[in-house]
Amino acid sequence: MDIFHGIGVGQNAAVGPVRTMRPAPTIPDEEPVTPSSAEDLRRALEGVQEDLLHKAQDASGEAQLVLEVTAQMAGDQQLLKSSLECIAQGLGPAHAIDQVMEEYCQQLVAAGGYLAERVTDLRSVKDRVIARLLGAAPPGISDLPPFAVIVAKDISAADIAAIDLAEVGALVTEEGGPTGHTAIIASQMGVPCVVGAPGVTALVDDALVMVDAAAGQVVLDPTADMVARVQERREALRALATDTSTGTTSDGVAIKLLANVGSLADVEDLPATSEGIGLFRTEFLYMDRETEPSVAEQTELYQQVLEQAPGNDLVIRTLDAGSDKPLAFAAGKPEANPALGVRGYRLVLSNEAIVDRQLEAIGAAAKATGRQPRVMAPMIATVDEAAEFTSRARSHELTQVGVMVEVPSVAIRAEQVLREVDFVSIGTNDLSQYTMAADRLEGGFSQLLDPLQPAVLELIGRVGAAGESLGKSVGVCGAAAADPVAALVLVGLGVTSLSAPVAAQSLVRFALKYHTLTQCQHFAQVALESRDPASAREEIAALLDADVAAVLAV
Ligand code: PEP
Ligand code: MG
Repeated sequence: MDIFHGIGVGQNAAVGPVRTMRPAPTIPDEEPVTPSSAEDLRRALEGVQEDLLHKAQDASGEAQLVLEVTAQMAGDQQLLKSSLECIAQGLGPAHAIDQVMEEYCQQLVAAGGYLAERVTDLRSVKDRVIARLLGAAPPGISDLPPFAVIVAKDISAADIAAIDLAEVGALVTEEGGPTGHTAIIASQMGVPCVVGAPGVTALVDDALVMVDAAAGQVVLDPTADMVARVQERREALRALATDTSTGTTSDGVAIKLLANVGSLADVEDLPATSEGIGLFRTEFLYMDRETEPSVAEQTELYQQVLEQAPGNDLVIRTLDAGSDKPLAFAAGKPEANPALGVRGYRLVLSNEAIVDRQLEAIGAAAKATGRQPRVMAPMIATVDEAAEFTSRARSHELTQVGVMVEVPSVAIRAEQVLREVDFVSIGTNDLSQYTMAADRLEGGFSQLLDPLQPAVLELIGRVGAAGESLGKSVGVCGAAAADPVAALVLVGLGVTSLSAPVAAQSLVRFALKYHTLTQCQHFAQVALESRDPASAREEIAALLDADVAAVLAV
C-alpha cells in the first residue's frame, strides 16, 4: 500500500478510480509556416478566449473570476503582437505562441507570489491554443467514471471549469499550495482535495485510491476497512450539511457562523438561513479592472450586496490591494518585498482618494438601502491607523467600524486598538504569515502556518481578552475559522464569531454543538501550553467528544 503525503483541503474523504489529465499536445519539430499562419494563430487565440468566457458565464464566485482573468490572458494584444513577430521571423504558429508564452511564464515566476501562481493558467491557455492550431484535443479528462479521483501535476482554472465537479470524487495535485486555484475552488465546492503531494503523477488510470483531505493523504489500494470508514465519514458529513441551526456551544453560548465571500454571485449563493457575512473581500470585485470604477458604479454594486445579503451581519472589508492581490488601478512603485509594502489600508499612503471613494460608495449604499453594514480595514499596524480609519469611515456616515488584526503589532496593542473601533476581526492567514515570518503562498511552510502555532494563539488570546474586557466583538475570518479543532480553540480564546467558506461551516457548527465553552477554554489552554501544533492536535484529539473525533478522523 503506497501512501502519498500532501496538504489536505477540507475534512472530507473519498475513494475512487484515478483519472489522469490528458497532457498538452506535442508540437512537431518541423512545423510549417504558411501564408495563413498569422491568421490561424489569431483565430486560435480568439477561439480559446471565447471558450473561456463561456465557461466563466456558467461558473460562479472565485471560479468565475479566475476564468475571466484567464480569458483576458488569451486576448492580450501584446501577446498576439510578439507571437506574430516570431511567425514573421520564420517560426510556426504553435512554436511561436509556445516561445512567447514561456517567456511570460518566466517573468511571472520571477515576480513570485500571486503572479507566480498564475503560471498554471497561462500555460493552460497556451496548451489550448496549441491544441486548436494542431487540431488536437485540448488537455483534460475525456471520460469521468463515478467518484473519479482526478490526478494531475497541477490543475488550471480552465481545466477545472471543463470538469463537472459535482461528479468528481476528489482532486489531487503534485504541485500547488493551499492558496492555489485547485485548493480554493475545491474548498468552495466541498470536494476533498490534496495538493502538493510529490509522486502522485506516477498513479495510473483506474488505480483505486483513497483521498483523505483531513489527513492530507492519498492511499493507493486502501484496505476494505479504510474504504468502509471513508464511506461512514462521507455519510456523516452529508447529514451534517443539512443542519442549518445557528452556531452555539453545547451550553448555549452563541458563536456566530458567518460566510467569507468575494463577489455578488457568492452573496446570491448563500443559503437564506445563513447568519450573515463576516468577510466580503472587495478587492476581488476589481481584479480584472484596469481603471477604478466610479463612485456611482461602486455604490450600485454595494447597494445590491446590502439588499441581498442574508442574516444580520454584513462585514465589508475595504480594498486589500497589493502583495499577492495586485489591483491595476491601485498599483504603486515596484517593491522588493510586496507583502511588507503598500498593501491593504496602506493604500492611503500612495492613493488616499481610492480608499475615500470606496467608503463614500459604501456609505451611499447604506443610506439608499437603510441597512448599515460593518466596515473594516485590512493590514492595520498601529493604533493611529485604526483611529484614522474610524474617523474616515464615520465621515461617510458609517457607524460600525472595525479593523483586521493581521499584523502582530496590533494584537500586542489589542486593547488600545479596540478602544478606537467598534470591533476587530482576526485574519489568521496574515497574522500567521507575519508572526512566523513564513510566506503564506509557499506550500512548504504549512507546519509554520498551522493556526495552532502557540505563538499565534498567544496573540489571539490577547485580542480575545481585550475584547472581553471592553465588551467588543472579536471575530476570526482567516482559514483557522474553517478548521473545526482550531475553531474550538479560538472560541476558548474569546473569539465570538467565525467566518469561513460556506462549505466549511457544517463541521465547525457540529464541533461547537458538542462542547461547552469551558471545554473550549481547556482546549485553548492545552494548545497554548503545547510545544508545537502537532502535539496540540494530538492532545486535543484525545479530549474531544468521541462522535466529533470520529467524524473529524482525528
Ligand atoms: C487573513 O489574512 O486571514 C484574511 C482573512 O485576509 P486575506 O486572506 O484576504 O489576506
Ligand atoms: Mg489578510
